[in-house]
Amino acid sequence: MFQNYNDCIWNLKSCKKSKDNKLKIKKSNFYLNYIKNEFNIGDKLFKNKISTYRCEKCKCLINKSWFDETHVRKIYSSVYGQHHKGWKKFNDFIKYPNKKYHGSLFKILNKFINVKNYGEYNCPFTGLFDDFFKTEITSSKKKLFYYDQLIQKYLNNKQLAGLKVGSLRRKNKENFCILKKIQKKRKLLFNSKKNITKKFLIIDHSKMIWGENCNYKSINCKVYAENIFNLEVLELQKAKNKLVNKNSFFDLFGIFLTLDHTFNPHAILKFALKNSKFVIIQAHIDPELGRQHLFSITKDFPKFLKDMGIFSVDLTKLIKKDMLGKEIYMLATNYKKYKKVIDKIYNY
Ligand SMILES: [Zn+2]
Repeated sequence: MFQNYNDCIWNLKSCKKSKDNKLKIKKSNFYLNYIKNEFNIGDKLFKNKISTYRCEKCKCLINKSWFDETHVRKIYSSVYGQHHKGWKKFNDFIKYPNKKYHGSLFKILNKFINVKNYGEYNCPFTGLFDDFFKTEITSSKKKLFYYDQLIQKYLNNKQLAGLKVGSLRRKNKENFCILKKIQKKRKLLFNSKKNITKKFLIIDHSKMIWGENCNYKSINCKVYAENIFNLEVLELQKAKNKLVNKNSFFDLFGIFLTLDHTFNPHAILKFALKNSKFVIIQAHIDPELGRQHLFSITKDFPKFLKDMGIFSVDLTKLIKKDMLGKEIYMLATNYKKYKKVIDKIYNY
């Protein structure tokens, strides 16, 4: 069930780990209770098996012995398959489209960066897709709600397994009408708006994140988002090939609470920085690393990025969001020519 993770998560050979006895470790929380129950792990075994270390250079906290990949996949598919936080943010958006989940982040980024191509990593709801979508549609709250209901019904009607031929036909027929309505609605929603941001959700089937069973009302998060936000879901590998052609370079790339949900954060960050002018990262920096995570970045992360030659600023204070010191927002670039813009944003 457990496996050793000896290397630095950022592939830094010189980054050594040391035990920090002052570290506070969360003994129980919502996720951990689920995991302990479903894998039949007693408190003692749990405590003895998983030990948290601090990496010396990157300052990340890492559980040196942690779940193996098979169990990680189980955690994020069956033990706890639905990403509550993502769905809650999405449902809030439909109910209260003016609610600002990321403080003034979107407003500030939008002011300084002309985003024609926007990419985001792995979760369709935690980041800025809804913010972009909202600026593009000409719609009241009521119309947005109706549009959402249509899409829900349309996707629900695709659930045909176990039905008798009669109901199957009825649902198919009904869906034919609903699809027409959705298409008409889409035209109205995006009416006369010429500058629509192309949105891409980049996925890599990480075992460490909700995905295959992240459903709400029998609809998978990625399919739901694809339909409602008009975004394109792109496999990371395919995106890499596509981006060789620099015409489809991202203006902005978002990693929202997903950097610590992959075994390869290093590769993801490298991909984002290489293929985007700007990268915005939101991450948990709670010093009490929950044992449901393999690793956690800390507040010292911007300094580490700087040491690695990546220009980045901490926007946490600027965006005026109440996070109780448990989250960090960083804007980064790998390209010298965009540093000026980042400085401008930082001093805004
Ligand atoms: Zn390290």
